[in-house]
Amino acid sequence: MITPLLLWATAGSAESYAAAAPVYRAMQRESVQSSNTESPLPVFEMHSGFWVNLHHFLYLQARLLKGNSSSKEIGRGAAPPDELPVSLIDFPAAEIQAWQDAVTFYSKDLAGRDLLLNGDMEIINNQLSTMEACPELEGKTTPLCKSGLRQDLVEALERAAPVYRAHWWSQQDRANRDWIAQVAPIIQKMGVQLSGQLAEVYQRPWPSQRLRVDVVWYAGPFGAYTSLDPIHVTISSHDPRNRGVYGFEVLFHEASHALAGAVTAAIAHNFRERDKPIPRDFWHALLFYTTGEIVRRDVEYGTMTFTNEQTSGPSAYLPYAGRFGLYSGSWEHFRGLLDLYWLPYLDGKVSFDTAMARLAADM
Ligand SMILES: [Zn+2]
Repeated sequence: MITPLLLWATAGSAESYAAAAPVYRAMQRESVQSSNTESPLPVFEMHSGFWVNLHHFLYLQARLLKGNSSSKEIGRGAAPPDELPVSLIDFPAAEIQAWQDAVTFYSKDLAGRDLLLNGDMEIINNQLSTMEACPELEGKTTPLCKSGLRQDLVEALERAAPVYRAHWWSQQDRANRDWIAQVAPIIQKMGVQLSGQLAEVYQRPWPSQRLRVDVVWYAGPFGAYTSLDPIHVTISSHDPRNRGVYGFEVLFHEASHALAGAVTAAIAHNFRERDKPIPRDFWHALLFYTTGEIVRRDVEYGTMTFTNEQTSGPSAYLPYAGRFGLYSGSWEHFRGLLDLYWLPYLDGKVSFDTAMARLAADM
């Protein structure tokens, strides 16, 4: 019997500022091997970190301050339509001032940047995630807590920190830990099987490095994003789309970004060979389609039943992209082509190369 090892760890202690222990670590490769593939298993390291949470929350508040509404603006930095700015009613005047100063700082520049596509935002997120257990970011307590981030950003974060800690952090940290506790048993039940299937379908082994997952209250308009150097998944515990099995699918969609190399290379090769422009985001639609479809099959035809998540029956689980409206515009066209030419590959009827060639030929 193969069972993933589940390990709950305590949060970072005073002795381990810069190397806070993960809340949860799933599928340790040394103790688990998949039965039907040579690929190693992914190792998810789940965190609920103070500074990354504060950073994303300030980013959200600044976006809302700027009058952002995703009904008007569908840019990648947009907030979900149902978000409201936090209320500061009855806060002490000094706290209101400190919080508003920090939000104003974010609104001047950072709030206009994309959390994933902007290199500075990627660096800030990566850096703050390693500062998880630090009480400050300038290295006053220990050199390990010197973030190296620009001084005005450090000042804004440190000014906002006591206000955030006093009013929102404990609730958001609890939401993050609840989200991890909710997805952990699904990883335990389905993670090994799915990991092997994804490595096989995407024709890439899982990377040997750990997949760091920062669970945050707000993680941008899509509820999650992943940067690759190093692999760093940021995922929202508050986003209603990330609940139940969908949270599990989103986690593995994000992790699939680390397996996309053969897919993007094959797309580039096949379109160049035909002198066709590479369709924007096609690789990403393929990733959503593929991981979602495999999760659907595992949920419906596997040994797992999720009596609390949906009713039984072969059409019960609608993958994330279809459920939450991603197939619109060019993605609608992509989905039609994936149904025609990629699904046969997932069914084992044609090869990876044949499916890719047919997709490019008909696009
Ligand atoms: Zn993605």
